[in-house]
Formats: sequence, C-alpha cells, structure tokens
Amino acid sequence: MIDLHFHSHFSDGALTPQGLINKARQVGLELVSLTDHDTIDGYLSLRPPVTDIMVIPGVELSVRWKKYDLHIIGLNFDVAHPALKEALIHQRNSRKARAEEIGRRLEQLGLKGAYEQACILAGSPQIGRPHFAQVLVNVGLAKDLQHAFTRFLGRGRMAYVPTPWLDLESAVTTIVKAGGQAVIAHPLKYGLTRTKLHELIRAFKTSGGSGIEVVSGAMTELQIETIGRLSLLFDLQASSGSDYHSDNISMVKLGCQSLLPEYCRPIWRQWM
Ligand code: AMP
Ligand code: MN
Ligand code: MN
Ligand code: MN
Repeated sequence: MIDLHFHSHFSDGALTPQGLINKARQVGLELVSLTDHDTIDGYLSLRPPVTDIMVIPGVELSVRWKKYDLHIIGLNFDVAHPALKEALIHQRNSRKARAEEIGRRLEQLGLKGAYEQACILAGSPQIGRPHFAQVLVNVGLAKDLQHAFTRFLGRGRMAYVPTPWLDLESAVTTIVKAGGQAVIAHPLKYGLTRTKLHELIRAFKTSGGSGIEVVSGAMTELQIETIGRLSLLFDLQASSGSDYHSDNISMVKLGCQSLLPEYCRPIWRQWM
C-alpha cells in the first residue's frame, strides 16, 4: 500500500511527521511521501530517518498558471538541490507576505490580531488560509472552515490575496532539475473545463512534468475513471494519495484512498 500525498503540522496538517509515520506503519503502508505545502522541513525533521517504510521526499507546490492557483506535487528529488532550496525560499516569502495582507484585510473587517492568531495556530512559518479559516471560526465569523473560505478566503472574496507563487514552468523545471518527478495534484479541484485541463496538461508536459494524481483524497469511481483515462491519453504516470490533513477535516484517512485502476502506470513502480 502506498500514500504519496498528505500533510503534517509543518503546513496545514494536524500531526507531526513522526506521528504520521507511526500511523502509516499501523495501517500497513509500505511507501509514503509527506507533501506539505511549499516546505520540506517536516521531511527533514524525521530523525533518525525512517527505515522500515520507504519515505521519499515530497512537496506540494502552490503554483500560478494563467489566472489559476494550482498544486504541483514534487516527488523523490534531491532535498539539498540549490534550485529547489531557492524555490522554497521564494514560496515561503510569498506565503508570509500574503498572510500579512490577509491579516490586514481581516483587520479592516474588524477582526483584530488575525495575523498573530493565525501564526500561533500555524506554529511554523507556513501560515496557510486554513489557519485563518480556523481563526474566523474561533471568533464566530464563520460557522466552519468551508464557510470561512466561501465567505472570506476563497477566490474573489474580501480576504483573497493573489499571490506571486512560482509559475507552472518554474515549479516543474525546478523539481526535474532536482532529480524529481512533477505530478499534477487533484486535477478535478480547479474548476477547469475539459479543454483547459488538456491545455494545462500539455503545458505541464512541455515543462517536463510526468505524473498526474489519478486518485487524490475522496473521489467517485467515475472521477477516478476520468483521470485514469486522461493519464493514458497523455502518457502520464499515475500517482495516488489520501491528501490527509487530520481526522477532523479529511474524509479519507491516511492510506485509505481508492485503488488505482489496473490499466494505469503507477509512478512508484520505478522506486520499489
Ligand atoms: P493555502 O495553501 O494557504 O492557499 O491553503 C490551501 C489549503 O486550504 C488547501 O490545501 C486545503 O487544505 C485548504 N482549503 C482550500 N479550499 C478549502 C475550502 N473550500 N474549505 C476548506 N479548506 C480548504
Ligand atoms: Mn492543505
Ligand atoms: Mn492541494
Ligand atoms: Mn494536499
């Protein structure tokens, strides 16, 4: 069993990297990748390195493509590669500046100290919108996290701040330069038309991307079939992950995502 997409508290997950590895052991996973948003610090914190399960380096990069915010997963790269380090610093700076601006906007709405509260919840420099969403819930301005996104933090809302994330080409080429493989994360979550999704895949492949998440978190059989067929059409390797964040907010538990269709070419075959 494998799971190549989940989060620790180094980004917006609830558990420690070691806690996730312990859980992974319990559920019988053999190959995993911790893919925190824009950071590999959680992976690097695993000391001593885990040996009884295969843990490959991973990251979920926030990426700008045209007017869309996308997620590109990098897998099995050299964690010390200078180009990768530089890209992660760029992401961290962008994320911090965005968080400060989100804080200012929420302050304008009368919510004092939102930035400081989000920092406390995050407990790391990776302050994400889910942390602000939790602050909004805590003060009673949103009834749940989803509501906080639809009302304040989602695209086009008051506290939505366009962010200078890496562009698609730089993100993909950086992962490839660092010896890794780039994967389009949860392709059905961006609201793209079929034509736009094909356009994205072509641009992604031109930059050197080689994989797509055929299974990601909670999906219907039909959705899996749709992306599975797409992976064949574009000759992309198939990845699979739970996108687990915590028991509270994730429908799919660690390693409990659906199986890949048999006709897909698993991206992990080359590593095992
Ligand atoms: P960020 O990287 O800070 O922009 O935050 C993106 C993260 O927010 C995603 O990875 C999800 O974990 C979470 N998220 C995005 N949209 C929603 C939503 N509508 N409701 C709840 N959580 C969301
Ligand atoms: Mn997340
Ligand atoms: Mn994502
Ligand atoms: Mn994710």
